[in-house]
Amino acid sequence: MTTLFWDIDGTLLTTGRAGVFAWNDAVLEVTGHTFDLAATRTAGLTDYQIGVRTLESLGLVPTADLVARLVGRYEDLLPASLPKKQGQVLPHVREILDHVRALGSARSLLLTGNTRRGAGAKLRYYGLLDYFPDGAFAEDPSARSTIAHRALALARGLGSVHEEQVFVIGDTPHDVECANAIGVRTIAVATGGYSVDELTPHAPWRVFEELPPPEEFVRLIAEPRVAAGPTERG
Ligand SMILES: [Mg+2]
Repeated sequence: MTTLFWDIDGTLLTTGRAGVFAWNDAVLEVTGHTFDLAATRTAGLTDYQIGVRTLESLGLVPTADLVARLVGRYEDLLPASLPKKQGQVLPHVREILDHVRALGSARSLLLTGNTRRGAGAKLRYYGLLDYFPDGAFAEDPSARSTIAHRALALARGLGSVHEEQVFVIGDTPHDVECANAIGVRTIAVATGGYSVDELTPHAPWRVFEELPPPEEFVRLIAEPRVAAGPTERG
């Protein structure tokens, strides 16, 4: 069984950064400070890491309690903020998820820097939640690679997993690092915050402007792993 670990923002969907409203309101409620997340490049950072950076930029000490309260309030406010911006499911995503589910040969799981509740809100709003039985999420400000290790443990708990048949699909260098941390291949897409030229030096297994059509994607994940070479552009 092939395992696909999917990033959310910039890979499965874009919210048009609608979460910024929820974040800014949460910061105001929890700290009393005004803040604009829109002025910060957050691609690849986990929600908890964004919490730490936000509090530090306001001159506050990012204690575990304060970060958790901020992230929790953001999660509360997120569902109502998603309709405030026009986002979309990214090209070929739904078709690929349908195709691999119908084939029954690959399991799709989440590997995301979102929290579980934040991920659920976004996927529910964009109609993708049912494709993902479970996933690994940000639970604290620790490195994104710890989420990758939890994702791999989760997949192993669901059945036999061979690293050669595991892929991380993501849109940032952080996703590539995640995949490298657990020794699996990355399919990188330039549909988020980074271009093909920015992603290529991080040596993902493959990099695409956008995800390929489902038949091509299925051929891709059936390819055997060969010795590391230069990244191939799709
Ligand atoms: Mg992303």
